[in-house]
Amino acid sequence: MLTVDDDQAVSRAVARDLRRRYGQDYQVVRASAGADALDALRELKLRGGRVAVMLADYRMPQMNGVEFLEQAMDLFPHARRALLTAYADTDAAIQAINVVDVDHYLLKPWDPPEEKLYPVVDAMLESWQAAGDRDVDEVKVVGHRWSAPSYKIRDFLARNLVPYRWFAADEPEGRRLLDAAGAGPEAIPLVVTPDGQALAAPTSAEVAGVVGLSTAPVRDFYDLVIIGGGPAGLGAAVYGASEGLRTVLVERRAIGGQAGQSSRIENYLGFPDGVSGAQLTERARRQAGKFEAEVLTTRDVVALETRGPARVVRFNDGGELSAHSVIIATGVSYRPLVAPGVTKLTGCGVYYGSAATEGPACAGTDVYIVGGANSAGQAALFFSRYARSVTLLVRGDSLERSMSYYLIQQLAAVENIVVRTRCSVVEAHGDGHLETITVRDSKEGTTSTLPCGHLFVFIGAEPHTEWLDGAVCRDSRGFVRTGPDLLVDGQRPPGWDRDRDPFYLESSVPGVFAAGDVRANSVKRVASAVGEGAMAVTLVHKYLETG
Ligand SMILES: Cc1cc2nc3c(=O)[nH]c(=O)nc-3n(C[C@H](O)[C@H](O)[C@H](O)COP(=O)(O)OP(=O)(O)OC[C@H]3O[C@@H](n4cnc5c(N)ncnc54)[C@H](O)[C@@H]3O)c2cc1C
Repeated sequence: MLTVDDDQAVSRAVARDLRRRYGQDYQVVRASAGADALDALRELKLRGGRVAVMLADYRMPQMNGVEFLEQAMDLFPHARRALLTAYADTDAAIQAINVVDVDHYLLKPWDPPEEKLYPVVDAMLESWQAAGDRDVDEVKVVGHRWSAPSYKIRDFLARNLVPYRWFAADEPEGRRLLDAAGAGPEAIPLVVTPDGQALAAPTSAEVAGVVGLSTAPVRDFYDLVIIGGGPAGLGAAVYGASEGLRTVLVERRAIGGQAGQSSRIENYLGFPDGVSGAQLTERARRQAGKFEAEVLTTRDVVALETRGPARVVRFNDGGELSAHSVIIATGVSYRPLVAPGVTKLTGCGVYYGSAATEGPACAGTDVYIVGGANSAGQAALFFSRYARSVTLLVRGDSLERSMSYYLIQQLAAVENIVVRTRCSVVEAHGDGHLETITVRDSKEGTTSTLPCGHLFVFIGAEPHTEWLDGAVCRDSRGFVRTGPDLLVDGQRPPGWDRDRDPFYLESSVPGVFAAGDVRANSVKRVASAVGEGAMAVTLVHKYLETG
């Protein structure tokens, strides 16, 4: 446990209080300036130590508490963080929440500590232990820079918030790891676990198994199965489990969904300075875990069946899960960019979504982004921090119709971002990785081939609900119809066997609900997805009570 406070008396008092209660199990390290505390943390890191909790005073000379925590997080990202202040300081609180995602904000003095300090530190320790602190260097991935399978593993780990260290296979440390594992080029990507297990070219499910992500259900039967781990699914998991339902959430890739890929969500209530998708996801996952919702990853649901009162979901490996009720929260995924060369280079320079893992690799290069909606605008802002230039290729005449006003203003204010309207990518070229793209400019009537190492695609989304064919009613674009949308001229949907209308978020099968982006006519926003997840749980209760 580390505490840093420039006031010696306070610093001693904090350390004393912490040692009194936690001294048996934890070493308490005290520093009186941010720089000294960082030195102590670096030393701990080299010695292979772990840090559970950091308590930092906000108002310190040279380096304030938020600045200190920001740097300290780079060394120990899993340590729980609290900011101390002598009086209420709203600005500091907001800054701290947004910059360093503090867990608590403690007002000094905290006498008696039994009431004001220990419950807070207990909660932080509990969440640190539950998260199973893993060192950043624990999982190692050895791969090729321009290889789709290597990218897939890195993206999977990053999106599941599993810290890992990347080694290029042609660099000395990468070669050393391959040698140590007795592996040749066919083993790439190689994943090495903290306990030294080496996995050659593993699947996502195999990686999930060794990094501590659950893939198998604990029970045979649940009250509620939630399909999809985006904001709607996570919202439903938190509300379902906290209201006593035996709840399991099944996610095929990485929890967080589309929102998990967002570099900055600016309009989610309670985060006036925005919040990154990764932060929001991490908090939601902890919250769902706290209420004991089970979360299974790398399980792809491919069918839904009704067997009497049971609702059964089937996985792609043939396994099944049964429950009284189901919430479909599978969202939408990117529409593919159809142009020669694109498919072959996907993962090797062409990426769908903002692919945050690629940020550092874009340093000093010219990046292109296809799309004119908010997601493309956010990605342009994100990559402009790394790239020499970012060009947004927009098919329409202007951004006004497709992008929020605040984002258009932000893009205009960044020097290395260029917006080109009425432009589209017509071909991608490269040998093993993307090298150039051909862009048609219909305004100028020209076609040009431009050097390009990174192309990020954001061109709208589709629900991909083909697996629900014949199971529940969907609209012409595949979105799941619910509640009043199912009534045609006052008639209930075919096969409906209850003497009531479907509840508001209920599908054409009683007890099967839809929430978030996958639902027909839903509002495509994080807040509405979370809200629908919560509302669907209320309707599940109603269904369980009344049938
Ligand atoms: C880059 C980006 C930035 C955005 N920024 C904002 C913003 O600033 N503000 C805002 O309000 N909205 C924003 N959005 C939109 C917002 O993220 C979505 O509206 C929201 O995520 C929808 O949540 P959802 O849970 O319904 O679906 P999703 O987030 O799409 O999650 C669905 C999940 O279901 C999983 N899944 C799908 N099919 C299956 C299956 N068969 N089996 C198992 N799992 C499955 C998927 O892998 C996915 O994780 C942004 C979107 C993107 C892409």
